Amino acid sequence: APPKVLVSGCLLGQPVRYDGSHKGAQHAVLDRWLAGQQVVSLCPETAAGLPTPRLPAEIVGGTSMAVLRHAAQVRDSAGNDVTAAFVLGAQLALQLVQRHGIRVAVLKEFSPTCGSSQIYDGQFAGHTVPGEGLACSLLRQAGVAVFSETQWEAAAAQLEAYAS
Ligand code: SF4
Repeated sequence: APPKVLVSGCLLGQPVRYDGSHKGAQHAVLDRWLAGQQVVSLCPETAAGLPTPRLPAEIVGGTSMAVLRHAAQVRDSAGNDVTAAFVLGAQLALQLVQRHGIRVAVLKEFSPTCGSSQIYDGQFAGHTVPGEGLACSLLRQAGVAVFSETQWEAAAAQLEAYAS
């Protein structure tokens, strides 16, 4: 069977974002993967039981790795500590890739869960900084190559490289 790829649920048109919207993506690579039944979808946050809609959340006081070490938190815009649910979501993503033998993921940029190169800075002011979300960090630690929705071709090339 062709290898599976993990894709953020919101990139597949699922209305799972904090505000109830999606970020459905259009790309030939995605079409090919869908046709080949290679796509495994997950929204880690809703899989962890967070409701939709929900308040926006950001990593506060450190990096995603610091959150995983209990040295920083994920908070929503009202200041509630939602770390436990976000860590659970990341762990569910890790379990899913392990179950399917997945080595490549395309995840939604800027999310405190899915971001792979830029996330919001924890001030809830719309400013992004270099960093990654919790699920991205756990997946990368496990050796999964994580890309964003601006990198479909690179993700496809990586999948091909692993297959050969
Ligand atoms: Fe869910 Fe990730 Fe999309 Fe956020 S970015 S809605 S956690 S799939």
